[in-house]
Amino acid sequence: MEKEFNSEQVIQEFEAMTKDAKKIQIETLNKILKDNWEAEYLKKWGIFDGTTDPKTYSSCVPLVTHKDIEPYVQKIADGVPFPVLTTGNPITAFALSSGTTQGKRKYIPYNDIFIKTSMQVYQTSFAFRNKEFPIKNGGKALNFIYGGKHFTTKSGLLAAPASTNINHSKLFKKTMKAIQTPACSPDEVIFGLEFQQSLYCHLLCGLIFHEEIQVVSSNFAHSIVHSFRTFETVWEELCNDIRTGVLSARITVPCVRNAMAKILKPNPELADEIHNKCLGLTNWYGLIPEIFPNTKYIYGIMTGSMAPYLEKLRHYAGGVPLQSGDYGASEGWIGVNVNPELPPEMTTFVVLPNIGYFEFIPLGQIHDPDLGSVLVEPESVVGLTDVKVGEEYEVVITSFAGLYRYRLGDVVKVTGFHNSTPKLQFICRRNVMLTVNVDKNTEKDLQLSVEAAAKLLTAEKLEVVDFTSHVDLVSEPGHYVIFWEVNGEVSDDLLKECCNCLDKSFVDAGYVTSRTSKAIGPLELRVLSRGTFQKILDHYVQQGSVVNQHKTPRCVSAANQSVLKILCNNVVKSCLSTAFD
Ligand code: AMP
Repeated sequence: MEKEFNSEQVIQEFEAMTKDAKKIQIETLNKILKDNWEAEYLKKWGIFDGTTDPKTYSSCVPLVTHKDIEPYVQKIADGVPFPVLTTGNPITAFALSSGTTQGKRKYIPYNDIFIKTSMQVYQTSFAFRNKEFPIKNGGKALNFIYGGKHFTTKSGLLAAPASTNINHSKLFKKTMKAIQTPACSPDEVIFGLEFQQSLYCHLLCGLIFHEEIQVVSSNFAHSIVHSFRTFETVWEELCNDIRTGVLSARITVPCVRNAMAKILKPNPELADEIHNKCLGLTNWYGLIPEIFPNTKYIYGIMTGSMAPYLEKLRHYAGGVPLQSGDYGASEGWIGVNVNPELPPEMTTFVVLPNIGYFEFIPLGQIHDPDLGSVLVEPESVVGLTDVKVGEEYEVVITSFAGLYRYRLGDVVKVTGFHNSTPKLQFICRRNVMLTVNVDKNTEKDLQLSVEAAAKLLTAEKLEVVDFTSHVDLVSEPGHYVIFWEVNGEVSDDLLKECCNCLDKSFVDAGYVTSRTSKAIGPLELRVLSRGTFQKILDHYVQQGSVVNQHKTPRCVSAANQSVLKILCNNVVKSCLSTAFD
């Protein structure tokens, strides 16, 4: 019999652990080193047993980025006959990062401890969420998740997105059964490799089980918004499938068709009901509660680069609460959202002190957008319990899966402490940086500028569907280029106004002075044809990325030629700022 999930016990364990964060961090570091000191990497840096204290550890082992560990990862992928990064828990697969920022997917070592940690994170956040918003028995989740493509390395190790590795794990499936609301879609839909077809089927399953749906979710908010934008274009076809009981010819994968045939039966009443509800909506406001009336909440990561989708998500959600997911990466988990009642704008993540060893680089220490070439004063790096409230840091992780003092590239702000472990607010990716000369604008700065300029569109009932940026250093002087996809026609006057507003909204002193002195050229706003960001998503999926891991790159560098080409080939209109003329 399945062991029943005990929320109270999970919360008690969480409270006890967070009271003793310092001690648990030292124990965690010792455990990682004790398990792995015989691996090539740690020996190289003079770690000779598991008793190394944090101070010695940070003075022996250097801070690294992915570039530094690539040769070691390659050795594991090639199958060298000695332990490279870990001994205690061998690397059993690679997690593929989304490759959003650099356009190149990273191979991250992965082992079974990641699954155990994932369960701890999910169980902890579920315990808090379920206290606030209990799900009734018999409920289903409309979960927009997808399997990613697999690769096999020379050594026979599987490389797949971390979420795919986790979702395939038997241990994970068994444990999560007790807490996860079952998905309304069959496995064939979830793991089908044609994501457009899987998305259509997810929507169809959602409609068939519409009264049972209690949770609408995906890993990232982008995927939920994308799904309902798709719904807007295919809802009549979906209704037709339900009316006739015959699946649309757009679904061509035989196993997906077979699985759907078991669920889809002719149901003209349901088709009429959904059809009428859709016709009754104004601009699709409140789509989710109208079609899925028993939805308790919408769940997914809504912070960081997902914040720009919140407005649209709230539009679809009507009054249904939004619950922001936890904080993790292919490299490892970091923190849990234990305050699900707070809106995504206020979400923070409590770091679990036993899931890795964490260090933090104060933001002032990081001067270079190219993470690899930064020299950080060793004394300035602080441990988990030594961070200061109100300060911003870059996260450094030492994991059970062979990462040692690895710079994650994320910037977080400490907002307080939960017992003795910090609560982090996600600020931005460190390496999304617009810079021509002395100016420095981050992903967050870009987001704020876009938000300010997009407000000008609302009077015309227009909205920015998605956006990205590029620094054009080919023209002289260099300048910022912002790409927008808008859901309708923007007049030339309005475009000019938006362009000037974008330019003025970058308030970084370096930018303002360079613009005033003409050392940076006028900001350029380029409007993209409808569907351009869909093409970018398709491009990443073709490369093997999984849709629910997708994050629109907020700054496309010249190195990411394939995405830059898609953008440049789809420009329908552009305009140069006159804000500093
Ligand atoms: P990936 O390894 O491709 O799954 O991407 C991991 C990255 O996604 C992290 O390093 C963060 O930049 C971002 N991320 C993950 N969780 C969150 C979160 N809760 N809020 C904001 N960004 C997140």
